[in-house]
Amino acid sequence: MFTALLTRAIRRRLVGPEQRFSFQAAKNIDPGPLERTGLYIHIPFCKNLCPYCPYNKIRYERKLAGPYLQALLEEVEQYYNRIGKAEITSIYIGGGTPTNLIDELGTVLSRIRERFHLVGDICIETNPEDINGENIDKLLQCGVNLVSLGGQSFNNRHLELLGRSYDAAVLERSLELVLAAGFKSVNLDLMFALPGQTAAEVEEDLNRALLSGANQITAYPLFSFPYSTVGRYRRLKKVKMPNLAVRRKMYRTIHNFFLEHGFHRVSVWGFLQGETPRYSSVTRERYIGLGAGAGSHVPGLFYLNTFSVDRYIDSCRNGKLPVALKMNFTKMMELYYWLYWRFYDTYIPKKELFILFGGDNRELQMLLRLLSAFKMATDEGDEIALNERGSFWLHLLQNYFVLPYINRIWTVAQKNPYPSEVDF
Ligand code: SF4
Repeated sequence: MFTALLTRAIRRRLVGPEQRFSFQAAKNIDPGPLERTGLYIHIPFCKNLCPYCPYNKIRYERKLAGPYLQALLEEVEQYYNRIGKAEITSIYIGGGTPTNLIDELGTVLSRIRERFHLVGDICIETNPEDINGENIDKLLQCGVNLVSLGGQSFNNRHLELLGRSYDAAVLERSLELVLAAGFKSVNLDLMFALPGQTAAEVEEDLNRALLSGANQITAYPLFSFPYSTVGRYRRLKKVKMPNLAVRRKMYRTIHNFFLEHGFHRVSVWGFLQGETPRYSSVTRERYIGLGAGAGSHVPGLFYLNTFSVDRYIDSCRNGKLPVALKMNFTKMMELYYWLYWRFYDTYIPKKELFILFGGDNRELQMLLRLLSAFKMATDEGDEIALNERGSFWLHLLQNYFVLPYINRIWTVAQKNPYPSEVDF
């Protein structure tokens, strides 16, 4: 009851009195001329559909590669006509498994360079089983400079439980190849809080990750995403997920492990070594998403492309932006969106914070006092730094409020290519 009232009050505060907290069917989206933006490219094809995965993806079929490429090229044109020759501050390629369309990606990136002014890095997600000399050369040729490898674990039993179709030897070989290739930075994704995983097994994964030489290691828990099928997965049925206390202890172990080994924290789950550039997927503030199910955040507006690959291709073929749902962002939502991602970064730049919110903002001051009272953050001069405790609990709290919304939108959008509304 209390949570429901609190949630309602937060929503009302965010959207104001005139707007409902809902996604509406989107028509005639036009971000207008933009000076600069990030780009996200979604490649929704996987050869192996992992049971825990909530992202928008379908099984890879070679025959879809050509039409999907044409659709991406058309979408680039559509945006060029609307936003003009904007500066592209970064390109992030995710999925699905982007390397399934590795040849096509080169064509899309060339078109983006022709139409826009690319100044930032190109980041890509990869899978261990797709890393080989040929694919690495292709990534380098098309200008990719930051790579993330979705390793998840060095433990064969856990890889099998997760439905991953490679073993630790393949993961280690792929890491060697990608690290020797000369990318600016290589991130290794690891998962913890796996069903039946012991503390010793977590430490074993951390040690092997450390020995691999990856510049950055992102260790995140296997969330029991309500929208994934993991709970129903045949093999996981009888295995219990570690409880909150165990997950809390594991996070502390991971956090201390990396700090003791010379890494510094760059996000709730990410730890970076030395001065290499940070690989990050989710903290860009303004971006345009290309591909089925991709999201975009432009000034005053957040919107989502249709999740259906077929309808995405059809829409682009017909010269239309494939946008399905939109939510107008009030000034208040823009502010808290910014703050959400700064909490994710675990560092909040004070100057920007006070400019955006106003130094005398009472809500903000109360929030900062609470962080300090609960010993979750420290004032470090130019920034407020969340400590290990603050990073864990605050992110947990954020997810408690945010994941049900993501769950609802994704569930509806995966069932219906063009919903009339998604209400909460
Ligand atoms: S985890 Fe990665 S490879 Fe597995 S289904 Fe999801 S996107 Fe595809």
